[in-house]
Amino acid sequence: MSGNITFTIIKPFAVSNGHVGPILNKIHTAGFKISAMRMLWLTKGEAKIFYAVHKDRPFYMDLVEFMTSGPIVVAVLKKENAVEDFRKLIGSTDPEKADEGTIRKEFAESMRANAVHGSDSDKNANFEASFFFSGLQRF
Ligand code: GDP
Repeated sequence: MSGNITFTIIKPFAVSNGHVGPILNKIHTAGFKISAMRMLWLTKGEAKIFYAVHKDRPFYMDLVEFMTSGPIVVAVLKKENAVEDFRKLIGSTDPEKADEGTIRKEFAESMRANAVHGSDSDKNANFEASFFFSGLQRF
C-alpha cells in the first residue's frame, strides 16, 4: 500500500459552502482514484487524537475547535506518488502563499479554514487512513 495512497479531509466550511463536488472534481482530474470515502462529524476526542502531532503548537485547540465545527468528508486517494502529488495539488498551508490552480488557492478562506488536509508522508497517510477506515488492503 505504501507509496500509492494518501489521505484527505475536506474540512468544515469547504463542506458547508458546497465545495465538496468541485474539490472532488479537481482530485479526479489530477488523476487520483477514490479508494474509500465518507462524511462524518468528528468529536473533540477524535480530533485531538488525529491532530496529536500538533499538541504543542499554539494553534492546536483552535484547530480542534475548527475541525469539530461541522461535518467533514474523509477519503483515501490512490495514485502513484500519491502523497507528494497531492501536496502539490492542495498547495501551501497558507492560502495566500498557495500557487494558482491549487485547491487551497481556490477554496481556502484562511490558514485555519484552508479547505483540505493532505498527508505529509507515507507513514502518516497509512496512520490517517487507518484512523477512519479498515480493510484498506482490499482496495
Ligand atoms: P498542513 O500539513 O499544510 O495542513 O499544515 P500543518 O500540518 O502545519 O497544520 C495542520 C493544520 O493546522 C493546517 O492545515 C491548518 O488548518 C492549521 N494551522 C496551521 N497553522 C495554523 C496557524 O498558524 N493558525 C491556525 N489557526 N491554524 C493553523
